Amino acid sequence: MSNQNTKPEWAPKDAGKEFAGRVMGGVSGGHDGMPGAVGSRPRPVAGVPRRRRLGVDEYVDGVLAGDRNVLGQAVTLVESNAHAHLELSQDVLRRVLPHAGRSIRVGITGVPGAGKSTFIETLGLHLCEQGYRVAVLAVDPSSKVTRGSILGDKTRMEQLSRHERAFIRPSPSSGTLGGVTRKSRETILVCEAAGFDVILVETVGVGQSETTVRSMVDFFLLVMIAGAGDELQGIKKGIMELADALLVNKADGDNKPRAKAAQLEYNRALHYLAPATDGWQTRVYACSSLTGEGIPEIWAVIDAFRKQTTESGVLEKRRRAQTWIGSTPWSRNTCVRAFSNTRGLSASGPKSNTKSCGVACRPRLRSNA
Ligand code: GDP
Repeated sequence: MSNQNTKPEWAPKDAGKEFAGRVMGGVSGGHDGMPGAVGSRPRPVAGVPRRRRLGVDEYVDGVLAGDRNVLGQAVTLVESNAHAHLELSQDVLRRVLPHAGRSIRVGITGVPGAGKSTFIETLGLHLCEQGYRVAVLAVDPSSKVTRGSILGDKTRMEQLSRHERAFIRPSPSSGTLGGVTRKSRETILVCEAAGFDVILVETVGVGQSETTVRSMVDFFLLVMIAGAGDELQGIKKGIMELADALLVNKADGDNKPRAKAAQLEYNRALHYLAPATDGWQTRVYACSSLTGEGIPEIWAVIDAFRKQTTESGVLEKRRRAQTWIGSTPWSRNTCVRAFSNTRGLSASGPKSNTKSCGVACRPRLRSNA
């Protein structure tokens, strides 16, 4: 040890013995029976296999095969801020991009407690049962250090996270809004390359997450609850104007009449707002994420939106306009092309086969509008 017991450099010059701050020297070798950190390698723990680093081919093959384990690692790679991962992640992205762009991307927002997670779990399970593969991502620009949404969402979406056709990913925390946006967009692309048909992007936290998520999805859903004043729900006119549908959740039990009344009231308010999407009429719906009532209906609305905007070319235009905030120069052109690719959007339902999901997978991407 060196520099033992010296005053810190910021100590006042005239500080005497009464000055309590002291700097202790660092540990240069091993101590307390532990090896020194320098030059030593962590010893493998018996019975716990060390995760082998994957190469580009393994990432790409695994993602394209829909291997959720490899997909998780690929997303971690894409989200990584480490310089050493940059080249590898760019290579992986470049190779999976031609397979991206085929999902319907749905953003889901609403104040904490509105029931977003419960809604996502119920809708996600409904879609999985229809044969779709569903990826759930969270975007939280306000989370810089903590990854607070991870555990919360994983436990709240307990059933969905266990479903073999679902993939749940918490938000990346990069510290900058542009970084979060880029990573989330790249995560969307990787999930699409892995064959996910529906990407649900949930806003977590406060701040600018609504506009961030709006800028990366096709359809934007605002989840609300009845009985709370507009102010309480943080529903500003601006956020309502971003939405392609409003959904009054918790329309069950004693709350049902209130939810229905709120549905009417919000429908009236919408008349005075400009629609979020050309040619599409934003409306208010009601559901119960607990009982599942109204869930197939809201999916039918999303499906009708996909069909109408694909045919009118509005969806393609939207995807083209969703520029790559913070993307690296190499990827901008390729990614913009991939992110705006609507040609691959399946009009005939999930690509899955009935054998693998074990349930009747009827083509459901059919408009009922
Ligand atoms: P989030 O913060 O928006 O993700 O909200 P959560 O999904 O965590 O839900 C908040 C609370 O509302 C939880 O206690 C849920 O059980 C409850 N909740 C969610 N959806 C419904 C619903 O449709 N009906 C009822 N009665 N409760 C619900």
